[in-house]
Amino acid sequence: MIENRSKTTLEYGRFFLPGPTEVRPETLAAMTQPVIGHRSEEIQALIGAAQSGLKHLFGTKRPVYISTSSATGMMEAAITNLSRKRILCLVCGAFSGRFHAIAEATGRKADRLAVEWGEANLPEDLREVLAADPDRYDLVTVVHSETSTGTLNPVREIAAVVAEFDDILLAVDTVSSMGAAPLRMDEWGLDYVLTGSQKALAVPPGISLAAASERALARAGEIEHRGFYFDLLKFEKSLGRLMTPNTPAVSLMFALRHQLEHMVEEGLEVRWRRHQQMADHTHLWVASLAGETSRHFEIVAPPGYRSPAVTAVRLPDPEEMSGPEVVSRLRERGYAIAAGYGKLKQETVRIGHMGDHTMEKLEDLLDELGEVLIT
Ligand SMILES: *Cc1c(COP(=O)(O)O)cnc(C)c1O
Repeated sequence: MIENRSKTTLEYGRFFLPGPTEVRPETLAAMTQPVIGHRSEEIQALIGAAQSGLKHLFGTKRPVYISTSSATGMMEAAITNLSRKRILCLVCGAFSGRFHAIAEATGRKADRLAVEWGEANLPEDLREVLAADPDRYDLVTVVHSETSTGTLNPVREIAAVVAEFDDILLAVDTVSSMGAAPLRMDEWGLDYVLTGSQKALAVPPGISLAAASERALARAGEIEHRGFYFDLLKFEKSLGRLMTPNTPAVSLMFALRHQLEHMVEEGLEVRWRRHQQMADHTHLWVASLAGETSRHFEIVAPPGYRSPAVTAVRLPDPEEMSGPEVVSRLRERGYAIAAGYGKLKQETVRIGHMGDHTMEKLEDLLDELGEVLIT
């Protein structure tokens, strides 16, 4: 094991960003194996081994594509491969808004169905819009865990609404929920599911993962200009030979294989439960902080729609102590959390209780954070 933590690096277990997340030393060490060729039997063995873990994780029988890109790449793939008409983007924060921005950037037709940041996208609102003009859209996009606000959208119920309409696909961003919140691609009838390596999976940044239903793949086949690097048909074809279309980040794939084994060992349901416990504990902590101080510390997401992976907390007086100020004071104590995202930067902070964090480490963090917020 190479010891390369510098003096300014945080101690293990103190890095609570909502992505990238803390990576176990064993996972980092897995990346130091010699590089292998991307057209070799070794890569086929590596990808083959990763496939069984990935299918289990996604809850699918479909192959899971491995893309050397950050998660936004596989978001772009959804937009460029899955719609020949018009896209409806469910928006409740920054990342869900990104689907719409990608549609604009790639010249696709798209509308937003938006709620206030922090609120959840509700199935009944979606049904109303789709029912008003059932032929207008052929793709709906949704983010499961909106990392900018800590909101968890009811994806299973949203999928049931989409299924009431013919010929509309559902693409789901599970970047911060995969491995943290229950999600079953096949059982819930999701057409396209994407995630990234660097959030709840606790693998370093640099690869993203996605699976497409048969129906989604058939749709991609009808689209003439799917782009080149993010062509789902190319991913599907290469994966048939346990390869990727282009040279992949093999070192990161070693880390991914290692981490998948670790997750299977822990058990998916145990992992989901651990995340829920960390989230519940954080919610209680916010409530007690508000009680003790009689100040308005508040969770951004409403009850019933809170992500088990990340909590955004609204600060009582951002003028006096802003999100970035809290982050820098906590950093002096050797801990990392994130300030708010985008327009919530000043008024909120975000705690990423995801990946391989434990209750014990989380309690230590919240003790320190409490001291910062009270003084
Ligand atoms: C982090 C994140 C993304 C973007 O991921 P990149 O890997 O930075 O491209 C997209 N969606 C959600 C929900 C995220 O949390």
